Amino acid sequence: MRALILSDIHSNLEALTAVVDDALSRGGFDLIWCLGDLVGYGPDPGPCLKLLRGYDLLAVAGNHDHAAVGKVDIQYFNSAAKEAIQWTSDQLTAAEAEYLAGLPTVTIAEPFTLVHGSLRSHLEEYLLNRESALATLELLGTRFCLVGHSHVPFLCRESQGSPQFLQFAEGEVLPLGEDRMIINPGSVGQPRDRDPRPSYAVYDSRQETIQRLRVTYTINRTQEKMQEANLPRYLIDRLSNGV
Ligand code: ZN
Repeated sequence: MRALILSDIHSNLEALTAVVDDALSRGGFDLIWCLGDLVGYGPDPGPCLKLLRGYDLLAVAGNHDHAAVGKVDIQYFNSAAKEAIQWTSDQLTAAEAEYLAGLPTVTIAEPFTLVHGSLRSHLEEYLLNRESALATLELLGTRFCLVGHSHVPFLCRESQGSPQFLQFAEGEVLPLGEDRMIINPGSVGQPRDRDPRPSYAVYDSRQETIQRLRVTYTINRTQEKMQEANLPRYLIDRLSNGV
């Protein structure tokens, strides 16, 4: 079985399409695991949901998904994010809103647990340091945990009870092994590791590996659509810089 692991798509249809096409050309996948933030920021919430749901999809909610349907208070978002969330809410059909509202915040696909932020704060916490990794490892009931939210790819391996953050390099095929790990595949729709190319991962259950990959897409097409939708300039510009 091969699972396409996607996070933080953020309504970026051009990025999502490029990732799916790239994965299909590299041996394909049987299903999609999505780590949340399907919508928010970008110009195509409905078409992204449609594309994702056309596959066998296991998804958890991100903070933007639940904010867009009123399940998370938007007062804690910055003004550009808030504006995009309100715009997104207006675009969603009742059925799309219902789908997003019904997404769980954590789910299990053995040997993985899928969550957007962290296991102690499913929607909010950015898992980026030792302390937050320890807290999630303490709550982890499976061998591996897949997270998103920070839009920064990494892997964190537990070695003798201690979490160690390691680079998860582009193209790297990671043998899963026995150590527990927390893995972030990076963001599809709004990368923030100073590389504007969408980042994603593929799990192969037969090989027991995860590979992280990147692909190019037509950023300016997405930016034009954002401009037409009057989304904040800051959100448009950051796509070019990958921050
Ligand atoms: Zn996000």
